[in-house]
Amino acid sequence: MRTVYSFGGGVMHDDPRQKDKTVTGGKGANLAEMASIGLPVPPGFTITTEECVRYLQEGGDFSAELRAEVGKALTHVEQAVGKRFGDASDPLLVSVRSGARVSMPGMMDTVLNLGLNDDTVAGLAAASGDERFAWDSYRRFIQMYSDVVLGLDHGLFEEALEIAKEDHGYFNDTELTAEDLQGLVDTYKRTVSEELGHAFPQDVSEQLWGAIRAVFDSWDSDRAKVYRRLNDIPADWGTAVNVQAMVFGNMGETSATGVAFTRDPATGEKAYYGEWLVNAQGEDVVAGIRTPQYLTKAARVRAGASAPSMEEAMPAAFDELAAVFELLEKHYRDMQDIEFTVQQGKLWMLQTRSGKRTAKAALKLAVDMAGEGLIDEKTAICRVDPMALDQLLHPTLDPKAPRDVLGKGLPASPGAASGKIVLDADTAESWAGRGEKVVLVRVETSPEDIHGMHAAQGILTARGGMTSHAAVVARGMGRPCVSGASGVSIDTKARTVKIGGRDLAEGDVITLDGSTGEIMAGEVPTIEPELAGDFGTLMEWADRHRRMKVRTNAETPTDCRMGRQFGAEGIGLARTEHMFFDAERIGAVRQMILADDESGRRKALARLLPEQRSDFVEIFTTMAGLPCTIRLLDPPLHEFLPHSDEEFGEVADAAGVGVDHLKRRAAELHEFNPMLGHRGCRLGVTYPEIYEMQARAIFEAACEVSAKGGEPVVPEVMIPLVGTRKELALLKNVVDDTAKTVFAETGLTLDYMVGTMIELPRAALMAGEIAEEAMFFSFGTNDLTQTTLGVSRDDSANFLAVYVDKGIYARDPFVSLDVEGVGQLVELAAERGRATRPDIKLGICGEHGGDPASIAFCESVGLDYVSASPYRVPIARLAAAQAAL
Ligand code: ADP
Ligand code: MG
Ligand code: MG
Repeated sequence: MRTVYSFGGGVMHDDPRQKDKTVTGGKGANLAEMASIGLPVPPGFTITTEECVRYLQEGGDFSAELRAEVGKALTHVEQAVGKRFGDASDPLLVSVRSGARVSMPGMMDTVLNLGLNDDTVAGLAAASGDERFAWDSYRRFIQMYSDVVLGLDHGLFEEALEIAKEDHGYFNDTELTAEDLQGLVDTYKRTVSEELGHAFPQDVSEQLWGAIRAVFDSWDSDRAKVYRRLNDIPADWGTAVNVQAMVFGNMGETSATGVAFTRDPATGEKAYYGEWLVNAQGEDVVAGIRTPQYLTKAARVRAGASAPSMEEAMPAAFDELAAVFELLEKHYRDMQDIEFTVQQGKLWMLQTRSGKRTAKAALKLAVDMAGEGLIDEKTAICRVDPMALDQLLHPTLDPKAPRDVLGKGLPASPGAASGKIVLDADTAESWAGRGEKVVLVRVETSPEDIHGMHAAQGILTARGGMTSHAAVVARGMGRPCVSGASGVSIDTKARTVKIGGRDLAEGDVITLDGSTGEIMAGEVPTIEPELAGDFGTLMEWADRHRRMKVRTNAETPTDCRMGRQFGAEGIGLARTEHMFFDAERIGAVRQMILADDESGRRKALARLLPEQRSDFVEIFTTMAGLPCTIRLLDPPLHEFLPHSDEEFGEVADAAGVGVDHLKRRAAELHEFNPMLGHRGCRLGVTYPEIYEMQARAIFEAACEVSAKGGEPVVPEVMIPLVGTRKELALLKNVVDDTAKTVFAETGLTLDYMVGTMIELPRAALMAGEIAEEAMFFSFGTNDLTQTTLGVSRDDSANFLAVYVDKGIYARDPFVSLDVEGVGQLVELAAERGRATRPDIKLGICGEHGGDPASIAFCESVGLDYVSASPYRVPIARLAAAQAAL
């Protein structure tokens, strides 16, 4: 297996592994791809991700084979460029770039201009005829290498740079002369010696291997680990290393560097979009050192900016770039995110990848590109991340609501966010942890802020453009973001912020509109999202291609309506106990629970019956003939118990018993392990009158709705926590008898079903027998996960994160189904259930019913439907379609 792949400079890219991102990483694979379709890519080579994994496993040693392969590949670059690495008269310089399978902030930052030292800098000056350029490159190199590879604080170097500029009264870096820069290099080198106790490495080979080592090591940095956890990236992927001949955007006024998107990544509109800077290098554009210029004239004019666009200042290079955009979109059939450099008028491509986009843009791009014939309908369906839809389903600011606008920045990531101002990531996390909504306000963000960005409702930065770290990460996370708001100044000591001249403090509430860039005081009201347009189109396509039905978990009329509006085809789970908590009913519920005997319970249940019936009338009416699965009472009774003396008093009065007596009854109900205690069907077995009342309410309601001429209702009565056939048989009898009675009373007969949840391992194992009684199974994967893993869902937050960190579980098993383990039980129960009753209806109603990966699993075992909370219904529709394709 090859460990190093050369690209550009006329090599053949004929090994398919070279274009496989799992081997060469996203950056390396695409550099090879671009070179092979004839685009101008500076020559270089990629060290595989496999080498990184091996290096980390072997405790940080390079193999002899790797050293030899790198040597060969470097010679090839030397030949292609016509310069030698370390040559004092005309040196080859390289960049060292990390590149994992997916783009990953947290990985090592790129080191540019590697190969410079006290000798080669003179050679670079002589060969280029440009002293200033040579010293600028050298000082950049020392600064980057010291920060990224040697681990020195970059503040040390920035400070020295600021002092140098101040000394000469300069405003921009570009005003520094060759001599100024040479002086700066001396200062930098002195700083390195003082800080590290040894000189800056002069040996170019040592420089190169040091940088390679730093890339490999960065895979296991804390930053990278946090990012991996948040994005479900496995720890064993590793990163590739790209070493590439430098091209220079800092060679004067005919040179430049930039980043661009082939379409607008915020809206999806078909317009080139990007930023560039003349006489600059590398990350200058995104670092916010100088204000970047617009790429196109149209964008510049729209923004009212005066600095010329690339289209105006470098028309030839711009035309070439535009042609590259077209070619890349046709080739990759997707919107591309591009990095380029112009060296003395000549365009070079440094990176392309499919561009990160907002959910809104993803939708528009998918629908537009299908319309343009660039992709087909199925591809369009697969282009949109179901989870990203979440961003579109949530409210935006009400345009009619008054706004107290404090200032404005760039509309970096759309959506509305309100919350208390917090000034650092740790505060964001801790305040959010105690349930507060926060907006993270920073000068600019870096990978160290990711946990705070995740915890925040939205992000506001004072510096940085549309392609800054904050903007890119926020779009990826679906957080609204306003970046580059120059009217924002932050005092981290006093914990205050000035926005547009107004004084605010940490903890004050602000609102961001990520679609306009506006920053407002206080909380601004929001409105419901638009579900037509591109969203409607894509959903229509998804519905055409999915096999599984999608239902919703709902019990209130609002949730039922919301679920239907989002496209639910029925109710997969109505939890009847939620209705018991209602303030007006809880009294009767408590009376029922605390009653001494059946007759006491029946008295209280009689009070509840009309209430419960009216709930079901509403549900059946709203769902208009769609199937409705209603689960009978499930939670441990003590969840309903009174707490205060006052509450005990009320129940005592209603029941006509003493408070002390009631308190004793309540104490009797205490359980050590209530989730495995007196709950679920065990309640029905011990107190059949409860289930009888609920069944009566269901059937009376169904008859009432039918009698009024509504769509015929087919109730699906679901018995929870069944572990044996007998339990179900017993309770099914209660339901059937009640149905018979109600039908006799009303003179109506209706179809109905009785089924069970499969949420205990025993139920899954005994599914064959249980199916003799059950007309349907609904997998209650929350409890099934809890009981199979022996992990309490309510107590696992503390250790599950560590488990995920250490790769014990790839994802939180309560969020994404443990397909390997719990999945076996689901599969087995489905098989055994079908063997007994071939037409048994199978569904899932756990939290997992709204998780795309779990939905894909449900498709693979052939479930009939998934059920998710109302907001997750569109996500489930799209995920079900993707799973079916
Ligand atoms: P990131 O993954 O953070 O974008 P890159 O490896 O793409 O890091 O490098 C960042 C920037 O450095 C690039 O966009 C480009 O401007 C500059 N760069 C990288 N390699 C070269 C090179 N060989 N010549 C000139 N500039 C380079
Ligand atoms: Mg980077
Ligand atoms: Mg890049």
